[in-house]
Amino acid sequence: MAKIFCVANQKGGVGKTTTTVNLAAGLAKIGQRVLMVDLDPQGNATMGSNLDKRALAHTVYDVLWGEASLSEARQKAVDCGYDVLGANRELAGAEVELVSLENRERRLKDAIASVDHEYDFVLIDCPPSLNMLTLNGLCAAHGVIVPMQCEYFALEGLSDLVNTIKQVHANLNPQLQLIGLLRVMFDPRITLQQQVSEQIKEHFGNKVFDAVIPRNVRLAEAPSYGLPGVVFDPSAKGSKAFIDFAGEMVARIEKMR
Ligand code: ADP
Ligand code: MG
Repeated sequence: MAKIFCVANQKGGVGKTTTTVNLAAGLAKIGQRVLMVDLDPQGNATMGSNLDKRALAHTVYDVLWGEASLSEARQKAVDCGYDVLGANRELAGAEVELVSLENRERRLKDAIASVDHEYDFVLIDCPPSLNMLTLNGLCAAHGVIVPMQCEYFALEGLSDLVNTIKQVHANLNPQLQLIGLLRVMFDPRITLQQQVSEQIKEHFGNKVFDAVIPRNVRLAEAPSYGLPGVVFDPSAKGSKAFIDFAGEMVARIEKMR
């Protein structure tokens, strides 16, 4: 049975998609069977996994809506080593439409249950808000991975997400945990980033991953080639950090079993 993780943070541009596709590729490289679910109508994780979001026969939208099964709708990400349930703009409508459906928060959970014996990890790339789509992700997951930049307001923004996780845990999904905070786009030369990194460790203790993802231009270039950095340039500093992070996640789930 797969362990299922949401990559979430309600802020945009904090590195969610970069984390999702590179962790997926890193896990695949170390022999894990991975499904990546794109829950963001922007479809960046889909495009960043070598798939054309405009040419998908089925997307996560059809799966949430019950018009396709997950096994029909998923695709192999060529060269990336994992499977993808893709998304595109069509998903933007789901936010409103889902409200009228029965079992609206658990549509994704039920869909993943039909394939989860085929994977070790399911990674869900969440949109930059705490909406019905993110709620579907949180209801489906065992844990949440929160990428964050070590900036001045980073901790402040976290409290809404932590509260949402607590509420979902209490009311909808008792297995949900905050797995950890991942420091991303880190620049050790910037004193403020070091200070905030220390504050995050003081505040969240063992909920902070050991792996730290540096700011690295190869990670930023990779999406324009339709690939995760880990595949595009495995020797880049950022790619190596994501492969370390993948190893850390494998060790974590062994403890969770
Ligand atoms: P989100 O999914 O949270 O909106 P993205 O993963 O799309 O964030 O990242 C936002 C931007 O920052 C993208 O242009 C991405 O390529 C870039 N980026 C993300 N992580 C890094 C990194 N470690 N080093 C350099 N650029 C990064
Ligand atoms: Mg994104």
